[in-house]
Amino acid sequence: MGRLIIASNRTATPGVPRAGGLAVALKDALDERGGGVWFGWSGEILDRETRGVRLFAEGNVDFALADLTQEEHEGYYLGYANDALWPVFHYRVDLARFDEGAFEVYESVNRRFGRLLSQLLRPEDVVWVHDYHFLLLGRELRHNGWRGPIGFFLHVPFPAPEVFTALPHHYRLAHGLAEFDLLGFQTKRDTANFRRYMVEHHGAAVLEDGRIRVFGRTIRAEAFPIGTDAEDIAALAMGVQGVASAQRLGRIIENRALVVGVDRLDYSKGLLQKVQAFGRMLDDNEEMRERVTFLQIAPPSRETVETYQDLRDQLDRLVGRINSDYSDIDTTPIRYLARGYPREVLAGIYRLARAGLVTPLYDGMNLVAKEYVAAQDPEDPGVLVLSEFAGAAEQLSTALLVNPHDTAGVAANIRRALEMPLDERKERWQVLHEAVTREDIAWWRRRFLDALDEARPA
Ligand code: ADP
Repeated sequence: MGRLIIASNRTATPGVPRAGGLAVALKDALDERGGGVWFGWSGEILDRETRGVRLFAEGNVDFALADLTQEEHEGYYLGYANDALWPVFHYRVDLARFDEGAFEVYESVNRRFGRLLSQLLRPEDVVWVHDYHFLLLGRELRHNGWRGPIGFFLHVPFPAPEVFTALPHHYRLAHGLAEFDLLGFQTKRDTANFRRYMVEHHGAAVLEDGRIRVFGRTIRAEAFPIGTDAEDIAALAMGVQGVASAQRLGRIIENRALVVGVDRLDYSKGLLQKVQAFGRMLDDNEEMRERVTFLQIAPPSRETVETYQDLRDQLDRLVGRINSDYSDIDTTPIRYLARGYPREVLAGIYRLARAGLVTPLYDGMNLVAKEYVAAQDPEDPGVLVLSEFAGAAEQLSTALLVNPHDTAGVAANIRRALEMPLDERKERWQVLHEAVTREDIAWWRRRFLDALDEARPA
């Protein structure tokens, strides 16, 4: 079996212990195949030209890291990946900026990285490219003569063709995507969107076995819903630090039921709508005001960008208004913490919470939903209130599924979650738990790599 070569914008940090999740899963995949290379951006931004990769060996895995120049960082990362691809892939064409120069830099970084990576490849290797930063990396590897298998996994949604085609260079992106042998998406919905896009815009033919014939190539597109390290999360929730953080929070909220939300501060996460819905639940249910408290953890991400600053300001105002309406001397209905917490602490808090509120406007998967399920006490599980627009909703159908735009509906479901009898909570949770433990992160990477081994270029 050849080595595994992983390419992702950011890699795990060589030599630093990894907390869990994707970084551990990918490192396990590299180890399991007897070694390989993990290639990506070093995180360094230089103000001068940079060309080579730096190699760091960790056992039989080489981390190969390339720097970006200031201009590359602005065009490739901030300009095109963050300001065009991220919003369009999350159905926010209104927030996207289509800058010709940024696309050119995106293309040139994919070209340069493709060249660097191709120099590290050996004939029997298998390449696995990750996410929207590297949509053109397969094409660049082919230009550099690579004929071996290349898989691609998209961590974010693939939008409906009507939205994807808003990208002025979608045609070029399509050609790039067709150079991968296997395209993995989070959901069946994303896979169907991709297929329809290829058929309607590029005359692709879908073969009997589901493969797609397009631009003279035959490729495979399938759903591989990413999972979480469910057993580790459960252990963390019951571990010393998990229990201690739950106790610390429990002392403050006393006998009130806890509703929890954990998100990055991003416009795709529907934070304003979620807080509004919680406020509406308090408006509509006077008796609940004494009995419930909402903890929202949302550390700022990409705070340099104006859109994120606006979101932060709006959220601060909204939380402030609801709190001034409903706080009392000894109660605060909403605690909004703009910072991150270690996994142990989050796991303990998930387990304490009677309801987990995961209501993105659109999300590739949403691992918080799965972590919340994994952390519950089987004898007294909490209830997951989940957006139907999170990829996780395809697997987690016994959550209380909500439309995050429907304030009254979300409010009613928060109340329903808080009042749900133990039997129903257990019944719903058992189905969810079975899904998150069976289809966990190890299952995801094995399934993808097995499919990639079968999808060698025709
Ligand atoms: P996204 O990848 O869009 O951020 P996910 O829900 O799929 O959304 O993954 C987020 C990951 O980051 C989860 O593993 C979650 O535990 C972690 N995370 C999110 N918010 C926080 C936070 N405030 N503190 C620590 N970890 C967080």
